[in-house]
Amino acid sequence: MFSCKDVTDHASDHLEGALPWRAALQLRAHLLICDHCRRLLRQMRAVNGALGLMGFVGVAAPARPTRRWPELAVAALAGAAVVLTVWLLPSFTGLEQRVYAHAIDHHAQSGAVRPAAQVVGSLQAVGARLEGELAGVVFADRCDFFGRTIAHLILQTSAGPVVVMLLPEHARAQVFFRGNQAGRIEAFGPGTLALLGADAASLDEASARVRAAVRWPA
Ligand SMILES: [Zn+2]
Ligand SMILES: [Zn+2]
Repeated sequence: MFSCKDVTDHASDHLEGALPWRAALQLRAHLLICDHCRRLLRQMRAVNGALGLMGFVGVAAPARPTRRWPELAVAALAGAAVVLTVWLLPSFTGLEQRVYAHAIDHHAQSGAVRPAAQVVGSLQAVGARLEGELAGVVFADRCDFFGRTIAHLILQTSAGPVVVMLLPEHARAQVFFRGNQAGRIEAFGPGTLALLGADAASLDEASARVRAAVRWPA
């Protein structure tokens, strides 16, 4: 039977489907009885999925025992960084960190084009209305954003997916970068438009499409 440490050691192989069947069986048996390890794998999968969607390469898992010491240390640090990213980001105060953390949190639901009703419901959360056509919405929801309700969309643009958030309050305009992600905070209606995507062109496209289709009266 695998211990929690065995699961941590083999988690990354497991997620890559590279675990031999006997070990995979033991790992699954452990997951049946261990909440902690189920949560760990869920978080690793979430972070990998989010970074994949956002165009990052991938995330190293916690240390594997077969590696030699320097690699082991690097892998352990990378694993710790993943856990820290998931657990600590929401406590940062900067709006751009919170936008990024929320985007990471909400990666997995994208995939299918959302019906207009869902987009409308999402926008209503902040008092905005859909007045034109907003094509290529692959995710739409109203979300709790650090105690405030926001509209959260993911728009497919010609340069990849762009996370779009309508935040109910004014915030200082800014441009930021994280890894190979571009982010922007813009004034929009009575609130703020936060955008995260692969490059400035994709943010321009998403911003223009949202502004053309959404009416957000003060
Ligand atoms: Zn466990
Ligand atoms: Zn959300």
